[in-house]
Amino acid sequence: MVRERIALACREAGRDPAGVTLVGVTKGHPREAVLAAIAAGLTEAGENYAREAAEKYAGLPGLRKHFVGHVQTNKARLIVETFDMVQSIDRLDAGRALAKASRALGRTVKALVQVNVSPVERFGVAPRDAAELAARLREEEGLEIEGVMAIGPLGCDSETTRRAFATAREAFERVGGSTLSLGMSADLEEAIVCGSTMVRIGTAIFGKRI
Ligand SMILES: *Cc1c(COP(=O)(O)O)cnc(C)c1O
Repeated sequence: MVRERIALACREAGRDPAGVTLVGVTKGHPREAVLAAIAAGLTEAGENYAREAAEKYAGLPGLRKHFVGHVQTNKARLIVETFDMVQSIDRLDAGRALAKASRALGRTVKALVQVNVSPVERFGVAPRDAAELAARLREEEGLEIEGVMAIGPLGCDSETTRRAFATAREAFERVGGSTLSLGMSADLEEAIVCGSTMVRIGTAIFGKRI
C-alpha cells in the first residue's frame, strides 16, 4: 500500500522509486509489529525515543535504525549505541555530544541536519542557518553529515506543504549530501515531487498509534 503510493508518486514526478528509501517509523507500536514489517520486507526503521528503541530493536540484525526524535545531549551515548543514523541534529551542542559519544565507541554515526520549515514544529535549525551548522558539524570527527531532514507543516493544504518542502530542498542543496528526508504518511506525495530521497512512514504502515 505505502510502496504503491511511493511508486505512483514517483511515476507522476518522473522519478525512479529506487531513489526513495522507505523508513518505517515504529513509535507507539510493539516489537511484534516491527518483526512483522521486517518479514514483509522493511529494512529501515525509525524511532523518536532512544530508550524505547533500545529495547524494541535489540537483536534485530539487518535492520538499519534511524533516530528521528529530539536529541538530548545526555542521551547521546544511548543514541549512538542504538542507531545507525541520526536524522535530527538541529544545533551544534547536540552534534558535538553525538560526535564525542561515537569517538568513545570507536565508530562514526551518519547524520542529517534537521531544518525547520513549519510554524508548528518546535525543533530544527532555520533554513538560512542550515549550511553553516552542517559546515561546523563536518569539522567533528565521528559524525558524517549526509543531508537534511524536515517535518512538513502537517494538516494544511498541498500547496503550503509543497512550498515548505521546496524550502527544505533549497537548504539541502546548500548543505550537500545524498539524503533529503522529507515526507510522512500524510504528505509523502508532496515530498516526492519536491525531491525527497527518504520518506518516514508510521501510521500508513502500522496503523494509528496507541
Ligand atoms: C512520527 C514521525 C513520523 C511518522 O509519522 P506518520 O504521520 O505516522 O507517518 C515521521 N517522522 C517523524 C520525525 C516522526 O516523529
